[in-house]
Amino acid sequence: MTLHVEPSHSRGATPAATPSQELTTLFEGQRAAQRREGPPSYEARLDALERLERSIVRHREDIARAVSADFGSRSRHETLAAEVFVSLSELRHVKKNLRTWMAPEPRPVSYLFFPGRNEVRRQPLGLVGIISPWNYPMQLALAPLVGALAAGNRVMIKPSEYVPRTSDLLRTMLAGVFTTDQVAVVTGGPEVGDAFARLPFDHLVYTGSTRVGKLVMRAASENLTPLTLELGGKSPALVADDAPLDRAAERIMTGKLYNAGQTCVAPDYALVPEGKEAAFVEAARRAVAKLYPTLAANPDYSALINDRHAERVRGYVEDARRRGAEVVEVNPAGEALEPASRKLPPTLLRNVRDEMAVMQEEIFGPVLPVRGYRRLEDAIAFVNDRPRPLALYCFSDDRATVRRVLDETVSGGATVNETMLHVAQADLPFGGVGPSGMGHYHGRDGFLAFSKTKGVFYQGPVDTGALLRPPYGKTVERLLAFLIGR
Ligand code: NAD
Repeated sequence: MTLHVEPSHSRGATPAATPSQELTTLFEGQRAAQRREGPPSYEARLDALERLERSIVRHREDIARAVSADFGSRSRHETLAAEVFVSLSELRHVKKNLRTWMAPEPRPVSYLFFPGRNEVRRQPLGLVGIISPWNYPMQLALAPLVGALAAGNRVMIKPSEYVPRTSDLLRTMLAGVFTTDQVAVVTGGPEVGDAFARLPFDHLVYTGSTRVGKLVMRAASENLTPLTLELGGKSPALVADDAPLDRAAERIMTGKLYNAGQTCVAPDYALVPEGKEAAFVEAARRAVAKLYPTLAANPDYSALINDRHAERVRGYVEDARRRGAEVVEVNPAGEALEPASRKLPPTLLRNVRDEMAVMQEEIFGPVLPVRGYRRLEDAIAFVNDRPRPLALYCFSDDRATVRRVLDETVSGGATVNETMLHVAQADLPFGGVGPSGMGHYHGRDGFLAFSKTKGVFYQGPVDTGALLRPPYGKTVERLLAFLIGR
């Protein structure tokens, strides 16, 4: 059930089948099976989820090893928490609720159509495609897979080429528990991704950069394939005047440094009341020293995924320094960090300005710009002047302040007095808005995203429709006058 498609540029002189031909064959196999076997029962879906659950549990240490090998160094604990546990808790929540979600849902009917009745039915869309990124390579393939299987679909996954060991492991794991016509993994780079996005899926989930998200949307538009786009952006952490600085700084740095900042919902930059920037940076420095007393050989502190990304993040810091920012590198044990290790020291930036690259691009690394603001409305305006973010973090114990920030800003999700934890809530929808994405999944919202929601009206035993049929006469005239009113 897995297929490896080499990108054409890595092929030799012998022309292999084009990715799209091979992909089409696999796709047609799933489509034929879907037609042949019809929608899976509750029991069949539960069985698929349980097979997947056992495979994830069985392979948990393999997952930690593969991800760490792909990153150069990725905390085992972070992999067990963010890839294994988060995927399993999503799966277990879905298992517990699936029967209820699958049940047809009665809806009220207007007296005009009485004694007819209404219901909403949810049925599998058919074939769901998943294109996943490298930063949480298991979770971001498995969580949409759980939702798609729960909704009764067949699934094809195209994981990231940046994490070949993890992608191979994903392929082996899924091949061990599913047939190719139920779940298939296709590996390869952007060319394969492009061919994949052109398949006439009934739904396509893409997680990755906003730039590639646009390409995926364009490719999918050929077939009007509905999309869930899980993209990125610059998620602000807004520290209100009343917030204890130590607490806010420790929590923001924890979110920033998880997976070395390579998290779509990582706090990207901090907005701090003017005059408190220096105290915040000091508090952040103390927090980092506590979280990561050493960096170089510390297995808790992850590396950047590859040299290109490490160079990109170093470039942001240099650009900011050149343009006058104050750069505070936090290297508690004063170690030399070999460039080849791709471990970058946690870095705070003060006196940042909009024209600096670090304030333009999503950082995706262990660097936190700290920007002062005068009044709360200025901080809110700063957020609203920029593309709508995937997440927003508000630090305040004042309910009116929190309400105001939540009401007056639009972000994919939000966590109050912490970072990132809204993503781990099984009952909360997860998704971006505008340039940070479209659509939602996780829990029931995932089940709904991957289902067709079909409204059905059942005509009752009394023929209420007769009144509205031609030839139209006085009765219809009076009825319409009554319904329309004056
Ligand atoms: P990316 O867009 O480079 O790659 C993601 C996937 O798209 C990979 O599988 C890749 O092979 C594929 N791809 C590349 N070019 C393609 C094309 N032309 N057509 C189709 N597919 C193509 O993203 P990335 O660098 O792996 O991930 C980092 C970005 O993802 C960050 O911006 C981050 O914020 C975002 N992200 C978002 C979420 C979320 O849930 N919203 C989660 C994680 C990461």
